[in-house]
Amino acid sequence: MGLIKGNVARILSELPAEVELVAAGKARAVEEILEAISGGARIIGENYVQEAEKKFNIIGRKVKWHLIGHLQKNKVKKAIRIFDMIETLDSFEIAENIDEACLAENKIMPVLIEINSGKEENKSGALPEEAEALIRQVAALSNLKVTGLMTMGPALENAEDYRQYFKLTKNLFETMRSLNIPGVEMKYLSMGMSDSYRIAFQEGANLVRIGTVIFGPRIKA
Ligand SMILES: *Cc1c(COP(=O)(O)O)cnc(C)c1O
Repeated sequence: MGLIKGNVARILSELPAEVELVAAGKARAVEEILEAISGGARIIGENYVQEAEKKFNIIGRKVKWHLIGHLQKNKVKKAIRIFDMIETLDSFEIAENIDEACLAENKIMPVLIEINSGKEENKSGALPEEAEALIRQVAALSNLKVTGLMTMGPALENAEDYRQYFKLTKNLFETMRSLNIPGVEMKYLSMGMSDSYRIAFQEGANLVRIGTVIFGPRIKA
């Protein structure tokens, strides 16, 4: 069995049944992504629209595609043709752009609200205290559907240190769920990467985004 294929199979065997793997494909070749798919990956996460488009044109809809990087306004039209979910929504302005583009394509786009759980300056994501207002605004748009939250957390040396940020985001997720905002379905909680995915699923993540443990260290980007 190829290395990548084996890595995916091992991770999948380790994840609790309710947790789905998002294979983070940035800077990886199509061949590597295909090997991950042969190992059982069913969702590919991509950070950049143009890079995703190249892979999507070859691989197509036999997997789901999640946008896990920041979306720029000028890439929205292309993005909504490729992605099955946008995990990184953090402003009403970009939500309006997505809504408009989806209306034109007769699509409903599932989105996760990205939370800046470390409250870091110059970091993408809505602050936890801004989440409710943003969710209510986005819920009013007809061609977007809020389906959960996503967070990165600060870059940390020690995996255990992620736990507080994952707990905070899980609490926010439960609070938002309890509000029963019409049109909002709090279903997905996307947290955890290669160094933190075990902590993340212990704290309630049901999507984990993993690159390095599947594909090895990234050379570029
Ligand atoms: C690259 C990336 C990942 C995966 O990171 P690894 O440390 O390689 O597992 C997960 N989430 C996002 C948003 C990323 O950009």
